[in-house]
Amino acid sequence: MKRGHVPVRQCVVCRQRLEKQKLARFVCRPAPPAPEQSQRPGPSQWVADASGSLPGRGAYICSAQCAERVEKNKRYRALSGAATMKYANTCRI
Ligand SMILES: [Zn+2]
Repeated sequence: MKRGHVPVRQCVVCRQRLEKQKLARFVCRPAPPAPEQSQRPGPSQWVADASGSLPGRGAYICSAQCAERVEKNKRYRALSGAATMKYANTCRI
């Protein structure tokens, strides 16, 4: 039995497997309830999960480059806003 096992997660953009702590985690939160006039719920929202402990479906991104490319990914396109914002904050000098 190994001690000090490092959890590994996969970047949704480049499919690279990396240590969980090196990736940025995002969580898909359900849309807020639709206003009464409209029966359609709004789009679900992706938020950066800095603590790594928010409930919900998570996705991981490994780098600012991947944060930009996620826009081209059909499944995770909605993540693009939160992802670029996250990396815009962390990469600033
Ligand atoms: Zn990546």
